Amino acid sequence: MTKNNEEQKEARPWDFFKKNVGRTPIEIAKERYSICKNCPQFVPLTTQCKECGCIMKAKVKLPHASCPLGKWDAVDITFSDSKKVEEDIDK
Ligand code: SF4
Repeated sequence: MTKNNEEQKEARPWDFFKKNVGRTPIEIAKERYSICKNCPQFVPLTTQCKECGCIMKAKVKLPHASCPLGKWDAVDITFSDSKKVEEDIDK
C-alpha cells in the first residue's frame, strides 16, 4: 500500500460529514467500543483514547477507523453495505 492510500484509510473527525463514508454496523461498533472500554488508554469521562485523542464513541462508528495499538481493525464495507448507526452506542 502506498503512503497516500494509508493516509486515505486513516479516519478523521470530518469523515462523519462525507457523503461517501458509511457507518459501521452497530454490532461491530459495539464490539469495538467494548474493547476500548476495557483498554488502559480509554478515558471513561470523555470517552477519549489517550493514544489517538479521538472520541471513541464516535470513531468506532467509522468503518475505515482502526485502533492505533492494533486492538481492532478497519472493516471493509462499502457505502451500500453499511447502514447509518443512529443508535446510542451504550444501549
Ligand atoms: S482505540 Fe485502541 S488504544 Fe485507543 S482506547 Fe480503543 S482499544 Fe485502546
